[in-house]
Amino acid sequence: MSDQTAKYDPDEERAIREAVARHEPPTCPRDGTAMTARSIGGGSFGLGYSRKREWLICPTCKRSVIFDIKRGTRT
Ligand SMILES: [Zn+2]
Repeated sequence: MSDQTAKYDPDEERAIREAVARHEPPTCPRDGTAMTARSIGGGSFGLGYSRKREWLICPTCKRSVIFDIKRGTRT
């Protein structure tokens, strides 16, 4: 199987998302590797946006996932 577009299944993405939501260090659901997190945003992307993006990359299987982190300003 050649896996050119390395992506996670929706279930796997959710597992990562939940770990981040709990402020736990996310690990790759496939191989258990600690994922590398990069913040995207600021700069030229969204001035005035209170939205932040996180890009998580697994250095082992090269899968990555980007998600929006909404900062709750009202409860
Ligand atoms: Zn992996």
